[in-house]
Order: sequence, then structure tokens, then C-alpha cells
Amino acid sequence: MRTPFYQYNLEILEDTLKEIKEWTATNPDWHVHYAIKANANPLLLKRINEYGLGIDCVSGGEIQAALDNGFPASSIVFAGVGKADWEIDLALRSGILCFNVESEAELDVIAERCMILGKTAHIALRVNPDVDAHTHANITTGKAENKFGIEIPMLLPIIRKAQQNPLFEFEGLHFHIGSQIMDMEPFRLLCRKVNELQNMLETNGIKLNSINVGGGLGVDYENPELNPVPDFKQYFSIFRDELKLRSGQQLHFELGRAIVAQCGRLVTKVLYVKQGTIKKFAIVDAGFTELIRPALYGAHHKIVNISSNGPLQRYDVVGPICESSDIFGKDEMLPEVHRGDFMALMTAGAYGETMSSGYNCRPLPPSEAGKF
Ligand SMILES: *Cc1c(COP(=O)(O)O)cnc(C)c1O
Repeated sequence: MRTPFYQYNLEILEDTLKEIKEWTATNPDWHVHYAIKANANPLLLKRINEYGLGIDCVSGGEIQAALDNGFPASSIVFAGVGKADWEIDLALRSGILCFNVESEAELDVIAERCMILGKTAHIALRVNPDVDAHTHANITTGKAENKFGIEIPMLLPIIRKAQQNPLFEFEGLHFHIGSQIMDMEPFRLLCRKVNELQNMLETNGIKLNSINVGGGLGVDYENPELNPVPDFKQYFSIFRDELKLRSGQQLHFELGRAIVAQCGRLVTKVLYVKQGTIKKFAIVDAGFTELIRPALYGAHHKIVNISSNGPLQRYDVVGPICESSDIFGKDEMLPEVHRGDFMALMTAGAYGETMSSGYNCRPLPPSEAGKF
């Protein structure tokens, strides 16, 4: 296979899906929707579909990808602050489970599209709960200053509007506070916010059929081999213990990263070893065009030299792209690196392949199933 390429270990994916399935099997009112933006590779989608997960989409293209890969429309929820008319139309025509609506303006447009197409829509309102996820600023979504969701003081009249429109079935509320959340406290705070909000709404005569708590569970980027499957027990038990679900109320989750991050790695080849005055560089053929997380969020992926077991030496591992941010690791201790060695960037299954680009006229990376 030409490098750089993505390699997916489907055994790790299945181990992960099995754990999730145990939780949903014992809690029949729980539904897990895979956030397809994390990775839309058909190899993975096939397994995820086999385990009965639904899909969380944030674009029309993602709805189409979910349908093309065999997911029933009735398993699809659709969020996003900027849904275009054609995307809303596609969702209405396919008959998705629920729109997660992020503003009053969007609610009005969905009503208009329903009218034009002669369709009805299931509506949940995305609430900005003002909970700090304590994660990187660029992947925090649930603070008052973020662009996502409807702020609580503005919520009641918008719920009433959704309830009063005969084209809508008002389902409930949606939340998503951020991504790569390793400290469980923000999830506990979210549950408490949801409980308070639900009490407040009930005193106003508003009942919710469903609550969607989004995703955001993080993974171990530094020790992927020790923690190939995230700590779902820790995560799910918070919602089981803290959230005061009413009888018959449905609970939805939207996990992306936690499902696919550890099953993928990016394999790259060393093009050059360059000695500077103070630093030694391992220049690899992958760049931020294939894996943008380090450049975008200062993320670090564990780097493994697959080809060498020589003595450990210190390298900056960098890509070929003409941008100084195209760096995968500084002062990495790696078995002596030579031209032609294969290296792997681990934990790259989420927000890796889906974020790859053609900058510098580079081709998109291929992928294969493989063991590691
Ligand atoms: C991205 C996203 C998710 C998934 O987030 P992860 O951190 O990958 O679990 C869930 N819900 C919404 C609305 C999202 O935008």
C-alpha cells in the first residue's frame, strides 16, 4: 500500500462496540448514535451498523453517507448550527429520527421546508447548558460564549413555538458539551443541569419524550496499548446514577471519538533523517493533510517506529507540508530512525481520515484493515 495510509484494527473496534452493546442491552431506553464525522470509512461503518448503533450527523453529506452504508433513516439524528436548505430537505425526504435544532431562525426554516415538501419533522432543541468541559478551547461547545445551541434563558418561548406548530413533533432537548473529555465531572454537572431544567420545564407544563446528552468521552492518546477501549463503565454509570429520567423517557448518546479513535493508526514512511545544529529531524511522508489534529489543536499522537529496534535517539518528527505547524512530535525518543522506516501515529481513528485534505495538491490517503 502506498504511504501514508490509514490502517484499521477491526478487532479493537468490535471490542469497543461489544462494551457499548452491553450497556444498551441492559438499558432498553438508551440509544447510542455514532457521530459519523469522527470517521466515515465504510469498513468501520459496516461494523458499527452490525452492532445496531444509530448515527449522529452534522451535514447532508453525512446523512447521505449513513444511508448509503445501510443505516436506517429512523436511526439518524441531525445537529449543526448551519443547516442548509438542501440538507434539511434531504433529512425530511429520508425521514430521519430527529432534528437537533440550534436556533429559532433554524426552526422557522425547517417549518418552511416542511410546508413546501409536505413533510413533518421531529424536533429536539439543542441547549447550551453553560457547562465547561475542561478540554481544549477549540473543542469546547457547551459554554455560553460558544456558537452552539440555544441559551437557557431563551428556551421556553422556542419550545412553545415548536410545540404549537402542527408540522412538528416536539421530542425534547439535546446537549453536547465538547470533545476529548477525560475528567468525568463535566458530565456529572451536565446531568445536574438537565435535571434542573427538566424540573423547571415541568412546572411550566412541558414534558420531554427524549433527552440527548451528546458525546465527548475522551480516549487515552498516550497509552493506546494499555487502554484500547475507553472507560465506558465510568462514563455510562454517571448518566445511569445522576440523570433523573421520567418513566418512558428515552436517553440518547452521540459518541464519536470514543468508538473509533483507538482502532485506527496512520502509517507513514521516513523520507529523510536531517541533522541540524541542535536537533535531528525525522521527515515523514505524512503531514497535516492526513492528520491535522496536532496542527489544529496541539494534539499529540503516540509515534511508533515499526521498522527499527535500534538504540533510542531524540527526534522531531515532521511532515513535508510547507507550514511550520506541520509537526507530529518534538523531542520524541525513538529507536534509531533510517530512511525507509515505517512509523505509525497511533489513536488516529477519529478525526483523522475524515479531516484529511488535498492541500499542496496531495492525494487523499488510502486505507486498509490490518492488525496492530
Ligand atoms: C462531534 C459531535 C459529537 C461527537 O463528539 P465526540 O467527542 O467525538 O464523541 C456528538 N454530538 C455532536 C452534536 C457533535 O457535533
